[in-house]
Amino acid sequence: MSRAKRPGEFELIARYFRPLAAGKAGALELADDAALIDLPPGRRLVVTADLLTAGVHFLNDDPPDCIARKALRVNLSDLAAMAARPLAYLLTCAFPESVEEAWVAGFAAGLARDQEEFDVVLMGGDTTATPGLLTLSITALGSVEPGRELRRSTAKKGDLIAVSGTIGDAALGLARLQGRLEPLAGDDRLIDRYRLPQPRISLAQQLAAVGLATAALDVSDGLAADLGHICEASGLAATVEAGRLPLSPAARNALEREPKLLEALLTGGDDYELLFTLPAGRRGELAGLPVTVIGHTEEGAGVKVLDPAGKVMALERSGFQHF
Ligand SMILES: [Mg+2]
Repeated sequence: MSRAKRPGEFELIARYFRPLAAGKAGALELADDAALIDLPPGRRLVVTADLLTAGVHFLNDDPPDCIARKALRVNLSDLAAMAARPLAYLLTCAFPESVEEAWVAGFAAGLARDQEEFDVVLMGGDTTATPGLLTLSITALGSVEPGRELRRSTAKKGDLIAVSGTIGDAALGLARLQGRLEPLAGDDRLIDRYRLPQPRISLAQQLAAVGLATAALDVSDGLAADLGHICEASGLAATVEAGRLPLSPAARNALEREPKLLEALLTGGDDYELLFTLPAGRRGELAGLPVTVIGHTEEGAGVKVLDPAGKVMALERSGFQHF
């Protein structure tokens, strides 16, 4: 570790990470070997972890506060996918020498901001220097009432498929940041969607509370790929009508200019919207919720996407490939 550019591990923890654990008794000010967590009575612990690597999950020149918030939010989105209420998180960082103290300060400020927004607190973790890439891992802890959790494997034949918010904005935002897409109206919003996902925590809990969703996950790898995960886990097939995809005005503009982008919207990933199934007879209960029905499940296997003319689309890649 270069002492010239940033203080040592203990000093970094004391200066930037200990304040993030303040006020939570069980965090023990990050001074003990582990944390103590009280679960609300009658609730079950829900745990998830996500690893983010520079150049793969975020861009090297993304602002550090945005990287921090995204790292936390992708985990909160996984909790949302299970209809869990967030409790706390653990943070593990491997910092290359190029990371300076000001970067760590910005990173911690981003975490502080989102801790307030999502009512979570840092409970522990680890930091190390690395000769490799900047790598961040967050483990998020949440709770759910037993039996109210949402799963991928429980969709039923003939269910409707619905998705929250809009799809494809983050993929377009990333394409703009990487210069693969010409500038277009509403660029900033697309880039925001890539950098700062909005975990659908309250929507998922609303759906779970009335038992409306039969299966769910959050869209991280791309709508088509993630729907494939529900189908595989549930032993079903799905048909999606691309013409029903909920699109933001900016994505709609982009698509009008370049119809071939439809595939990128379906497979782009980083949406962090909630994709879920529900019984067809309960469609009316979606009224007033920020969700759109895009298709249905059926007997068989695999995901079929129909283009706006009703023709089956041949998708070259269904979503983000991790390896
Ligand atoms: Mg997920």
